[in-house]
Amino acid sequence: RANRMFKPEDTIVDVNGVKIGGGHFGLIAGPCSVESEEQIIEIAKSVKKSGATMLRGGAFKPRTSPYSFQGLKDEGLDLLLKAKKATGLPIVTEIMSTDYLDRFANDVDVIQVGARNMQNFELLKELGKIRKPILLKRGLSATYEELLMSAEYIMAGGNDNVILCERGIRTFETYTRNTLDVAAIPVIKRLSHLPIIIDPSHSAGKWWLVEPLAKAAVAAGADGLIIEVHNDPANALCDGQQSIKPDKFDSLVQELKMIAKAV
Ligand code: PEP
Ligand code: MN
Repeated sequence: RANRMFKPEDTIVDVNGVKIGGGHFGLIAGPCSVESEEQIIEIAKSVKKSGATMLRGGAFKPRTSPYSFQGLKDEGLDLLLKAKKATGLPIVTEIMSTDYLDRFANDVDVIQVGARNMQNFELLKELGKIRKPILLKRGLSATYEELLMSAEYIMAGGNDNVILCERGIRTFETYTRNTLDVAAIPVIKRLSHLPIIIDPSHSAGKWWLVEPLAKAAVAAGADGLIIEVHNDPANALCDGQQSIKPDKFDSLVQELKMIAKAV
């Protein structure tokens, strides 16, 4: 079902009227994690002003260390709903367990499956049973075929609202957190009709690399971006080093518009 052979035209995923794919660019921005009401609302308002079409923010965080901040969980979801109410932006947030499926199906506009859960097939099958848009991130060492097969798990259940995301892969290079695979954009577009977006933040691991990687993604024809933006990166509870400030995000969006016009 994800294969371009079975459906030649691009899939457009509709998120409460905000479209992504088939020429509609999705700009998702927000902090790595929801930290407080003031934090998420301030960031939501500023990214909306800059042109973001959706708000991201983790409530359940898949941290490498069990001693790192794990997210505000249910309270984080409550705060995302407040930010949505304040700005009108649809919310994108990660699910880690089927235990929370009902809550996510009710309250979340785009359910994110993180890189570490790309092959959590039981989770994918459950997400196939609902009709909410799913943002499926490429696994740390997953091939295109494996990514598309994971999309297939969701679609096999009848949920065709899948957005794919390249977020950097593991290579021998350690200077960057991951290596952004720009080729994923044209390859996935050739193999599949699903929208493919880029996460320059987790690819880079460094805030000053976000801008050039985002520009490369737009130049290569990505259907959207998901970017970590924080109002106080130095004190962020998660991924501050790769988060850009709201004013930087604003100038980046202006430059991306010029690139989009040129390609
Ligand atoms: C995230 O988007 O906050 C995240 C944890 O990303 P990934 O699953 O790509 O590491
Ligand atoms: Mn993050």
